[in-house]
Amino acid sequence: MEKYILFSLREDELEAKQQFEKEHPEISLQCYKENLSKENMNLITNEHVAVICSQVQPIPDEVYEHIAKQGVKVFSTRSAGFDMYNTALLKKHGIRITNVPSYSPESISEYAFGAALYFNRKLPLILDKVSEGDFRWQKPIMTKRIQDRVIGIVGTGHIGRVTASFFKKMGCKVLGYDLFPQKELTKDILEYVDLDTLLKESDIISLHMPATKDNHHLFNDETFNKMKDGSILINTARGSIVDAKALIKALDNHKLSGAVIDTYEFEMDYVPKDNRNKEIKDEVLKTMIARNDILWTPHIAFYTDAAVKALFETALLSAYDIVTKNESKNEVLVK
Ligand code: NAD
Repeated sequence: MEKYILFSLREDELEAKQQFEKEHPEISLQCYKENLSKENMNLITNEHVAVICSQVQPIPDEVYEHIAKQGVKVFSTRSAGFDMYNTALLKKHGIRITNVPSYSPESISEYAFGAALYFNRKLPLILDKVSEGDFRWQKPIMTKRIQDRVIGIVGTGHIGRVTASFFKKMGCKVLGYDLFPQKELTKDILEYVDLDTLLKESDIISLHMPATKDNHHLFNDETFNKMKDGSILINTARGSIVDAKALIKALDNHKLSGAVIDTYEFEMDYVPKDNRNKEIKDEVLKTMIARNDILWTPHIAFYTDAAVKALFETALLSAYDIVTKNESKNEVLVK
């Protein structure tokens, strides 16, 4: 039987694995906890037709060369993003690639929405005052209702549109910006505007686009300066879209009043890992974790049981489709 080899298996995926194996006896699956690397690449042999990964750490080119030599047909990632893999090299070797483009957009959206409420209701400041014993009702902790806020959604695909609809249901005015606007969203969810208008008019901006060459540090000193004073930025998309040093400056200048940073450009050395006995050397990351006007979290906006199950299942079934039918709706087409 042709074999499928899966790396970076986490404890929290075991239930999804067991269920998958019960429901799909046609797939012979070998799983390893370690990330795929030079040290363990020899686990992949000519018996394997599919390699399934889920890692942010880069894979050295010689590992891709090894996969190709073994005749592997498909490389699948248990994630939506695939910018961490050398897709050009995989393509050069004729290895097909699949991802999981959508696996519970509600999970990411509810995180962005909840975190927006956290800052909108000034909870960090309220909690600070409570810890000092200051329980007074006073102007600095009074806030506007979320329905009185203008929300800017940058990237209105699978996740952006759900996030937009959550805010819309609360009664907010929602503005959207996307390279490819979706007409149906303009019926009753959002109004498309150009990026400068969105920056100027939004109280809360939530990012939901992929990382591309063109949007590296799209949120920089200049962009922050165009935003409303005291606005809130939420990045559950990709770290490279935001210049973290410029973000810290914008918070220091009170241009922004809060930021939710679930994805950080240089997170790969630390996420998802146990760093309790390790010194965090990245000064920017240390600053973000320490500040209470930044809610820094380790790329967990997606992290619900529904999302973990969908990621596991979809990655394997997409690989299976390529192997058995030579096509998958989740194939990544590399230019
Ligand atoms: P999607 O492909 O469905 O939608 C992305 C949208 O962004 C598209 O409509 C596209 O046209 C638009 N877009 C692309 N480049 C743009 C640009 N420069 N300016 C404006 N719009 C642009 O993707 P999705 O599934 O909604 O995912 C959105 C983001 O969320 C991705 O970056 C993904 O990696 C990230 N994500 C994060 C987590 C997490 O746990 N934090 C989980 C899943 C996905």
